[in-house]
Amino acid sequence: MPKWISQANTDAFYGNPRGRNGRASPTWERSSLVVVAAPWKLVTSWDGTLVRGIRMHYLCAGSLQMVLENIWKAAGKDERQIRTWGMHLYGGGYNYRLMRGSNQLSMHAWGCAVDFDPAKNGFGDTSPAFANHKPVLNAFADEGWTWGGRWGKPNGMHWQAADV
Ligand SMILES: [Zn+2]
Repeated sequence: MPKWISQANTDAFYGNPRGRNGRASPTWERSSLVVVAAPWKLVTSWDGTLVRGIRMHYLCAGSLQMVLENIWKAAGKDERQIRTWGMHLYGGGYNYRLMRGSNQLSMHAWGCAVDFDPAKNGFGDTSPAFANHKPVLNAFADEGWTWGGRWGKPNGMHWQAADV
């Protein structure tokens, strides 16, 4: 199982994504981000557009690919099972933004966090749907990813390749 850096030390591991004027560094973006394709039909949770790939940091992209392959296997390569779990609904990957209610960067700003099915796993929801989908939780846990669903302020849509 990969061992990820603490989220306080993401700059040391993933590099510093901060550019000018509150924007991401274009240099960092070019040298850090790659695209992970899901084995199933993935669409955005907000308008159902087909997602060709999830932008992530190259240091955790291979691990996310492994997570998705293992979820696909656990689903018996059945799109219906993927939809039952809500894993067909992409909620966001790399995104240069602040944490909700904070002036600190979100883990999404380093490209080491990914969200799925936000509607059924909302921020603050203490009983997110993914809590009932053990194969999904296990696939991420096997790769050492942290799930936000059991945090004090739960974020059940969210996984990150960084320890809390
Ligand atoms: Zn997130």
